[in-house]
Amino acid sequence: MPNPLTGDPKSHDVSEFKDSITGHCLCGSITVTIRDPTLFDGRHGHICHCANCRKVSGSFAAPNLAIEKDKVTIEDKNRTLKVYEDYETMSGNVVRRAFCSNCGSPVRSETPMYDGQGKLVIKMGMFPRIPTPEFETFADHRHPWQGKHEGVTQFKIARGGPTL
Ligand SMILES: [Zn+2]
Ligand SMILES: [Zn+2]
Repeated sequence: MPNPLTGDPKSHDVSEFKDSITGHCLCGSITVTIRDPTLFDGRHGHICHCANCRKVSGSFAAPNLAIEKDKVTIEDKNRTLKVYEDYETMSGNVVRRAFCSNCGSPVRSETPMYDGQGKLVIKMGMFPRIPTPEFETFADHRHPWQGKHEGVTQFKIARGGPTL
């Protein structure tokens, strides 16, 4: 039996998410809902190639979405959400990385920079469909075999800095 969570993103029309989109961690303990009717209009979110995002995601890059906290609801029914305080950051600011302590799925990141804007970062891998990203960070640290995403701005390091 295929796991129903192993879905083809294309099997979900974006019209399904016109009010909100909901995702779960791998074990289902943590549910995240994003309420943003514009999420699939245009480009939203970014792909980060920094070493910390690669470790956290277990991948060559991580799909992230910085979004207003009041648009996000996180349910933690089995109380498995755990926070790792990451001090090994370029900015020197602590990044509070939350993940499911049962299954290991990354859930969200919070930093003083985003706190000031009333935002947090949602790790998008748990959602049935991910919006077309707007930009990449740490694009200078891409692996040479990675393809290029058309129309996605590649910041060498941080957003707003020099681009590739
Ligand atoms: Zn879990
Ligand atoms: Zn990163």
